[in-house]
Amino acid sequence: MKITSLSAVYPSYQHTAPSWRTNLWQIVVRVETDTGQTGWGCGGGGKAAVEIVNGHFSEILVGRSVDSVSEISDTWDFLYTESIPYGRKGIAIMALSGVDLALYDALGKAEAKPVAALLGNVSKRRMRCYATGPDTDWYAELGFTAQKMSHRWTGDRSVDQAVEMAESARTALGPDAEVMFDVYMSWDSEITLRMADALSHVGIHWFEDVLTPDDLQELGALRWKIRPINMAGGEHEFTAHGFAEIARAGAYDIWQPDITWCGGITAGLRIASMARAAKAEVVPHRGGEPWGLHLIAASGCEDFAELVMGTRNAEKDVMWLGAPEPVNGYLELGDAHGFGVDPNEELL
Ligand SMILES: [Mg+2]
Repeated sequence: MKITSLSAVYPSYQHTAPSWRTNLWQIVVRVETDTGQTGWGCGGGGKAAVEIVNGHFSEILVGRSVDSVSEISDTWDFLYTESIPYGRKGIAIMALSGVDLALYDALGKAEAKPVAALLGNVSKRRMRCYATGPDTDWYAELGFTAQKMSHRWTGDRSVDQAVEMAESARTALGPDAEVMFDVYMSWDSEITLRMADALSHVGIHWFEDVLTPDDLQELGALRWKIRPINMAGGEHEFTAHGFAEIARAGAYDIWQPDITWCGGITAGLRIASMARAAKAEVVPHRGGEPWGLHLIAASGCEDFAELVMGTRNAEKDVMWLGAPEPVNGYLELGDAHGFGVDPNEELL
């Protein structure tokens, strides 16, 4: 199977905010092959990543053969090397992620298998999910047994706010539920220790992104002081090269690569294998979306998939059609070939 064309678009999202965060600048990548398969992938990086795919990667990939997981891995290495002058991290790798995922989708369709089955042993078919967002009551109604809440430090009152949030989640979701905080780099070491102390009676599974990804040494030291709370992070890191730095610093108990940003399934597999050696757990960022879900199903990632649920009745764009919906807080992997999703043409 040879690549006959490769292209990317930035969708016309309807529900946008004046910031990259609403739709996270996610792009759609399409690959066509000489055997008639169309592969779809999701990457990050917005219009800049679209330019990288259309203006560079497509020129050097047409004609290349991608008949196996190992040929996709070689293609990844080729694109990584070719983009080194402007790449290695950030938008170039977000673009590469979309290409990698499109190639996996095409290969799955060519071999009539879900992507997870291309990766080897599918050890998980039904995966436990956690809901990300503030709407605890809604998540409880839907049957979720785990919630991650956003918290931003805005001064001393933030400690009481965090305690209130955590206590109400614990009450609504039950004693066995997992409760986590994503603080999006708004705490420092001292605040993290204060929070660990203030929240100890609630039982918190992890603190996420307490410092920036440039503070790996400090995170590595802090990690041991907040036991039994786990230190989580990694959504802002790229490729196995980047995660090697995390491993060296011992920065996190839980690694959270974003499969549409960190380099796709190819990078996800390499990162998961590195995590095993580092005795870290892997819980991909947005792992309940198809891209992460197939990796979780067939790798050593934890049985714990993130769904960014937001709030009840909030309007949002549905970019990918056919993705599994959570039932009682679990997602089931389907049998459809590739990733089993198609882009919503209305947004392209
Ligand atoms: Mg996060």
